[in-house]
Amino acid sequence: MEKRIQLSTPTMHGEEITFVQEAFDKNWIAPLGFNCDNFEFEMSDYLCRGIGSRYHSLALSSGTAALHLAVKLAGVKRGDKVFCSDMTFAATVNPISYEGAEQVFIDSEEETWNMDPAALERAFEKYPDVKVVMLAHLYGTPAKMDEIIEICDRHGAILIEDAAEALSATYKGRQCGTFGKLNAISFNGNKIITTSGGGMLITEDEKDRAHAFKLATQAREPAPWYQHEEIGYNYRMSNVVAGIGRGQLLHLEEHRELKTKIYEVYKEGLAGLPMTMNPYLDCSKPNFWLSCMLIDDDCAVDPMTVMEHLAKKNIEARPIWKPMHMQPVFKNCDFISANDHPVNEKIFTKGLCLPSDIKMTAEEQEYVIEAIKECF
Ligand SMILES: *Cc1c(COP(=O)(O)O)cnc(C)c1O
Repeated sequence: MEKRIQLSTPTMHGEEITFVQEAFDKNWIAPLGFNCDNFEFEMSDYLCRGIGSRYHSLALSSGTAALHLAVKLAGVKRGDKVFCSDMTFAATVNPISYEGAEQVFIDSEEETWNMDPAALERAFEKYPDVKVVMLAHLYGTPAKMDEIIEICDRHGAILIEDAAEALSATYKGRQCGTFGKLNAISFNGNKIITTSGGGMLITEDEKDRAHAFKLATQAREPAPWYQHEEIGYNYRMSNVVAGIGRGQLLHLEEHRELKTKIYEVYKEGLAGLPMTMNPYLDCSKPNFWLSCMLIDDDCAVDPMTVMEHLAKKNIEARPIWKPMHMQPVFKNCDFISANDHPVNEKIFTKGLCLPSDIKMTAEEQEYVIEAIKECF
């Protein structure tokens, strides 16, 4: 194929530029401003539809910034241990190091590829004093939230949800990004909606949002002069960028539907091969940000061979996130699994992320499916 088939790229619709234009017309280019305010209100409305409680949104320069502020607000201190997802992007767990704390990585289960409640329970047996759990919903598939929340509550631990990949995914009808006391979403370039770069912190308590706002704006105290009582950051989203987000949010459901269709077409087209698609629970509705395949244990085909074959045909596939416990930078951190053979090592060695761009045509996806079949 002449045109490269990509993993996931931004899809703009037109409203984005209208909101951006408004910022230019009003010469409101600086951080903060009406687009930021409205983007936050609109996101809170979207997330809280039908759940009766109100979450508070704070637009920031990145999802990583949101996770960093979440770690600070959760009270993580130097030397603390934090339980976190092991199979995720490094951005989930890096903020723990920013604060001088230490990650304890928790293996996944096979039904959603997310944090295994049985492994989390084991982790609390080993480290009963841990007070913060950071959970990511991998590739837009909700984790086993009932079990995770029950365990966190029983041990008095705060849950931080990294919903960077999972915006618009639901578990028992509730939006990802509203399960934790503190939650993060991302609008990075390849996410389900994008602002070119950006993120949001979603808080249960209004005072957490207010504190995060202060930290994100250099921690200025309310005084006529520049008064500082704690260390701050420059983490706010600009009013221009927020305009892109407002336009994108209008199309979030449409993006989710297109991603869902892509997953279903793969599932049907690849049926019969010795592989399965990334699994999810019946009580959940993933956003299918990325469709992934997992080659059967007893099949010798290596996902890297598949990736190279696809690359030759101008198709972009990507490896599964390499588990954090296998990363040299985290070699001194503990890793806890409920199985003799860690689930994440199997997913990593047998899995592959497939092109999931919502602008991919039916013909292009058919071409991808045929190319995958050639590998078996
Ligand atoms: C993308 C991503 C982030 C980071 O978001 P940025 O906006 O790029 O900083 C964090 N966690 C996960 C799981 C991600 O996929």
